[in-house]
Amino acid sequence: MRYQPVMGLEIHCELLTNSKVFCTCRNEFGGGANTRVCPRCSGMPGTLPLLNKGAVKLAAKAGFATNCTVNNYSAFDRKNYFYPDLPKAYQITQFESPICTDGYIDVVGGKRIRINRIHIEEDAGKLVHDDYEGVSMADYNRCGVPLIEIVTEPDFRTVEEVQDFVIQIGQRLKYAGVCDARMEQGSLRVDVNISIMPYGSDEFGTRAEIKNLNSVKSIGRAIEYEIQRQSEILDKGGKVMQETRRYNENHDDTKAMRSKEEAHDYRYFPEPDIPPVQFTDDEIEAIRKEMPELPHQRFERYTAQYKLPEEDARLIIAQKEFSDFYDEAVKITPEYKLIANLMLGEISHLINETGADITEVKFSPADIAKVAQMAAADTVSKGSAKEIITILFNEGGNPEQIAHDKGFIMDNDADGLDGIIDEVLKANADAVEKYKEGSTKLFGFIMGQAIKACGKGANPGLIKKTLTEKLK
Ligand code: ADP
Ligand code: MG
Ligand code: ZN
Repeated sequence: MRYQPVMGLEIHCELLTNSKVFCTCRNEFGGGANTRVCPRCSGMPGTLPLLNKGAVKLAAKAGFATNCTVNNYSAFDRKNYFYPDLPKAYQITQFESPICTDGYIDVVGGKRIRINRIHIEEDAGKLVHDDYEGVSMADYNRCGVPLIEIVTEPDFRTVEEVQDFVIQIGQRLKYAGVCDARMEQGSLRVDVNISIMPYGSDEFGTRAEIKNLNSVKSIGRAIEYEIQRQSEILDKGGKVMQETRRYNENHDDTKAMRSKEEAHDYRYFPEPDIPPVQFTDDEIEAIRKEMPELPHQRFERYTAQYKLPEEDARLIIAQKEFSDFYDEAVKITPEYKLIANLMLGEISHLINETGADITEVKFSPADIAKVAQMAAADTVSKGSAKEIITILFNEGGNPEQIAHDKGFIMDNDADGLDGIIDEVLKANADAVEKYKEGSTKLFGFIMGQAIKACGKGANPGLIKKTLTEKLK
């Protein structure tokens, strides 16, 4: 590759408010077409927008989650445009004075990605195209859904940096209660701006903006495609057009949608119907104090305090509900590693296999804490612990009761085992003889005989220990 790619992101996130940003319609995904609209969000002349304070607060929290400054003053503007899916023909957004500015997130490789701004705006509706009837229909349910747009500086140089940033933004906003960050449902939407320049150059090339990216994987593929496309243009001595392109998942390519507008095309002007948002320092501080623990802070707690391996911590934190479950369990029994093993092993396995959801399983964090406790105390073996979890997953129940009913309680009575093992050694005198003469691999055989003789409930660790001593 002879060119250095340069990327910057614009990420739209739907805010988790109960109602829309300028009216009282419900803010919820789905619903029959045009069932969640009113004169305000459908843009009837003469209606007035009423700013949702909850949306403003969530936008401020997004700022705290991404190291931004939350500004004392921010204001709304009108962005004029012909939007078939936004009937009043302008979008209310923040142009001159966004609510948050100057943030950053560190990504893989320790690179710091600067965030230019986060502003509040309203979402547009959706056009539903009916190819059979040859018509397009407007569904305005999404009109006026509160959004924030996070705009980064063009600091990305690799696909991995972009993907890591998007994953981190999704996790942080989810943990902060700002956005549910479901890319597949469109509650987090990423536009990638990308240009290329010869290596060593410090003059950025002309960028294309790719829209319609609804998964981390698509982001990667669209960037790869775009690097290739732009390289071929420059190789031939051509010029990259500044334009908006759409990524098509099925064709794995990008196609031009429209040439990119400049800011002045929109004729931004201050929104006359909404007073500016003004925060005192104390009010900003009060919101900051409400911030819950964020994923990177949780990672720190898991690795530094709980001594979990980084990979375990990363996997648990990836899904907030999963991590919350883990936190509840270790609060009851601080078997950090053991509970992590059970959750990342058997529980994850069962969840993946069945498509279940950790918030809807038949067992509680207390049940898993109990299983871990029994395994840690050698009351049941690690293998039985897994079996108990499978039973809990399928039928629910009480872990201790299951352990009793299934005969999983281990016999940790060393004296009792002693006699049985002596019998085993006597009955296998030949093998014992050969073992002592140097056939060390016979240990496995003798161990197998001992386990069989001691019965299912016996503690294999204890058998091994007793046997090792007797064979010295
Ligand atoms: P506009 O307002 O015209 O959309 P911005 O300056 O706000 O332009 O930039 C939009 C996005 O494009 C930002 O994420 C920014 O980082 C990115 N960007 C700007 N210039 C380039 C470039 N030459 N190559 C790649 N990305 C760029
Ligand atoms: Mg822009
Ligand atoms: Zn409404």
